[in-house]
Amino acid sequence: MSMVDYQTVMSAAERKCIQGGIRFTKRRRQVLSVLVKADVALSAYEIAERCNAGSDSNMPAMSVYRILDLFQEQNVIHKLDIANKYVCCAHIACSHEHDKSQFLICGSCRHVEEIFLSDEAVHALQNAAHTAGFSAISPHLEIKGRCGQCEQSQGRTANS
Ligand SMILES: [Zn+2]
Ligand SMILES: [Zn+2]
Ligand SMILES: [Zn+2]
Repeated sequence: MSMVDYQTVMSAAERKCIQGGIRFTKRRRQVLSVLVKADVALSAYEIAERCNAGSDSNMPAMSVYRILDLFQEQNVIHKLDIANKYVCCAHIACSHEHDKSQFLICGSCRHVEEIFLSDEAVHALQNAAHTAGFSAISPHLEIKGRCGQCEQSQGRTANS
């Protein structure tokens, strides 16, 4: 992520938090900064480790969990249930609201892509679930695969 993108994402997140009535404290900024710079999904422990690395701050994992909960409520980050890890929302800087995202998770490099299914696709899923006797299903999907970059480098290795 370029420096410009980083600044844009951080200030958009700050605006979102203020709109949601949440202060963007130094600790919260630090936690989000780690997640934005990581570009992969991280666990709360990994985030705490990175916050504390090379600094005299001592951020306990419990504080990180609380901060992550706050950010999740504000749609600034998303939690991946499969991996029990967190990613920065790919749409922080967008003005549109979204409540249902799907996630493509690369099994090789851990890159996570946030995508949206069409309403029809979500309805088809919900209908199939209803037929199976399920109600109130969450349309949050996590799909494992291989990202475009890993697919390309795989191809190169295979051909060389
Ligand atoms: Zn999002
Ligand atoms: Zn967007
Ligand atoms: Zn990948």
